[in-house]
Amino acid sequence: MKRIFISTSLIFFLIGSFYFLNISQKSSSKVLGAVQNNNIIRNIKVSENEKVVALTFDDGPALITRDILTVLDQEKVKATFFVVGNNIDLYPDILQEIYSAGHEIGNHTNTHPFAFLLDKQELAKDILINEEKIYEQVGIRPNIFRAPYALYPQNLMEITDMLGLAIISWDVDPEDWKMVNKEIIVNRVMRDINPGSIILLHDGPPELDRTNTLEALKQIIIELKDHGYQFLTISEYLEKI
Ligand code: ZN
Repeated sequence: MKRIFISTSLIFFLIGSFYFLNISQKSSSKVLGAVQNNNIIRNIKVSENEKVVALTFDDGPALITRDILTVLDQEKVKATFFVVGNNIDLYPDILQEIYSAGHEIGNHTNTHPFAFLLDKQELAKDILINEEKIYEQVGIRPNIFRAPYALYPQNLMEITDMLGLAIISWDVDPEDWKMVNKEIIVNRVMRDINPGSIILLHDGPPELDRTNTLEALKQIIIELKDHGYQFLTISEYLEKI
């Protein structure tokens, strides 16, 4: 009887340890990928022959987001959308469409402010209001964040750290936000791309015309596929860190 008790306890102990190790492994990999080390993620390190890229879209949702979703769907590619709360107010349905199509959603603040003009409390509020709007529409709270204007002042670093948000930057910027033509966007992406790259594109803000981005997108995807690339979301990237 005693022996049975001991071996049962041992089994429980082993199961418990295994479970605990699993949990701690998970959380430590999350810490690595996040901002706890003031770590701004611009790309990920993968071997030369692991041809993966991440497509990211900023400043939506907007009406053109729907056309972008159509292209992504046709090409069976998943992307990550860093959305702005003020634009969720305009197009809540489109945010839902992004999410239900299986794409990833990240936080890009509520008002797209110049972070250095806000104190820590104001900045935290701006980020959390957007988080709440995303939660209301799709029921998730993203742990990935993109900084407006690629500005990383101390207040932003501290707040994102406090909120446990991983700051996601990019290493490929074809400057579609300057409304350059389709050929320039495609050529710049293909010139600068590497395995593990993060590509920055824009589906917003809604008041600006992103037709060139839309037209470039299909060709970018086709050319990258021709070069053997696969498309991952940012979360799938972070799992590799
Ligand atoms: Zn932006």
